[in-house]
Amino acid sequence: MTPARLRETGRFQHLPSREAHASEPASLQELLTLLDPGSRYAKPLRPCGARSAATDCHTSSMGTTISTARLNRIVNIDHSAMTVTANSGVRLDTLNRVLAEDGLELVGSHEVVGRSLGGAVSAPCFGPSIGDSGAYLSSHVSSIKLALSNGRVLNVTPEQKNLLGAVRMSYGLLGVVVEATLKIRPATVFHADHRRVTIDDFANAAGALADSAVGLQFYLMPHKDRAYLDIRRFSSKDSKGIKALWAIKDWGESTVLPRVCSSLHKVVPIRGMRFGLIDSISAVAHDMVNSRFVAQGSNATSESGKYRAIGPGKIRFSTWCFPATDFGVVLPAYRDFCRQTYEEHGYRCDLPAIGYRVARDSSALLSPSFDETMIALQTMSTQEKGWEDFVIDLAEFAEHWGGTPMFNLTRSASVDHARNVYGARRDMFNKIRRQLDPDNRLLNPFLAQYFL
Ligand SMILES: Cc1cc2nc3c(=O)[nH]c(=O)nc-3n(C[C@H](O)[C@H](O)[C@H](O)COP(=O)(O)OP(=O)(O)OC[C@H]3O[C@@H](n4cnc5c(N)ncnc54)[C@H](O)[C@@H]3O)c2cc1C
Repeated sequence: MTPARLRETGRFQHLPSREAHASEPASLQELLTLLDPGSRYAKPLRPCGARSAATDCHTSSMGTTISTARLNRIVNIDHSAMTVTANSGVRLDTLNRVLAEDGLELVGSHEVVGRSLGGAVSAPCFGPSIGDSGAYLSSHVSSIKLALSNGRVLNVTPEQKNLLGAVRMSYGLLGVVVEATLKIRPATVFHADHRRVTIDDFANAAGALADSAVGLQFYLMPHKDRAYLDIRRFSSKDSKGIKALWAIKDWGESTVLPRVCSSLHKVVPIRGMRFGLIDSISAVAHDMVNSRFVAQGSNATSESGKYRAIGPGKIRFSTWCFPATDFGVVLPAYRDFCRQTYEEHGYRCDLPAIGYRVARDSSALLSPSFDETMIALQTMSTQEKGWEDFVIDLAEFAEHWGGTPMFNLTRSASVDHARNVYGARRDMFNKIRRQLDPDNRLLNPFLAQYFL
């Protein structure tokens, strides 16, 4: 199938897509009735959680969306097995809070805490996790209850390793995750080392950072030739840091900065002056918050993305993963790409890009870091006009540099490239998909491009 890559040249108008029928089952029985092939609900049937994905993976303009919002019970915290079992509609911040009350936490470090457990298990969910064991939230899932498209329940157990590997990050293509059991651990403390560097300095250090099992989060300002690094290591100190300071950092980065940038577009008409101001404000904000301000933290105190506008139409983003070993070369190329695109087309992102080190992890068939450690680079902007053109150019850039797309986070990835990247793993996934959903009732047109 030829990939549809439409440019927003302004010559064509987007017709608003037809609204999907929205359903919100309140119990497993209601969900199974809805999925039953004899039900009155139009296909495709698309499960959705907090709808924070950047693509159409969670929508279905012709069919039915199945929100898990009302399936939101924490079923059990098992202190001896060190696991938590929860419904898929539970939000990660709720889970974090309840675990923290018992001195426990989810394994790893996961951004955008407003997302649902089901969405985080069914897609690559990563953040600045320390260490090399289990880069994604789904890596720590030991069993899953799945509602299938034939209206039946499938319990996937730890013994069914291959099936579990397929269900993790399955984008709702194998069934609706109803409940998941995840490993937990006693709450940990980390030390965050903050550095402000040029992009070339970051590029020189990228190889060493990729090789060391640190938690790495960074912010890139390509037009200012600047990077802010947040390098995390476990700490033996008792202090978990002050939650209010982390909350201020998160609020500044994910609410104040986007709003200020968005407003400046309305009040400062001269482009050069506007972006000069935007970059200066971003730099001052990051100088302040990515400093000793928040040197000590824990998963509970450092929850981030809480204030990030969740849902379509707020902050626009597209994320690609690049092999960590090449990232030292990709970084300056990305800076040059952003500058060149701005010069030629007049579009640039107004927010710093965010990135993470994502350790090699083959626990899911569709893991983007299945073969090697990757660096995820998330380009973000509040500006709609020109964004779709920009993400097409970004996709061409990323594909040239061997980028791996993710079906919930990457916009405009070409079908051929995605198929090549996931290759035999996609074929194996599809075999399982055809067994569990033989009539493609869960497949919407967006996902069909990549999986049919
Ligand atoms: C501003 C912004 C920044 C972001 N930054 C990051 C980031 O740094 N790191 C990161 O990992 N993600 C990030 N995300 C992406 C987002 O949080 C993930 O896509 C998330 O995992 C999706 O969770 P959700 O509940 O919103 O799921 P949705 O977006 O609703 O769905 C995502 C996918 O999961 C499927 N799904 C949802 N629930 C179920 C279920 N119960 N059973 C089966 N399938 C299901 C959907 O069909 C869809 O394919 C960001 C999002 C935003 C808006």
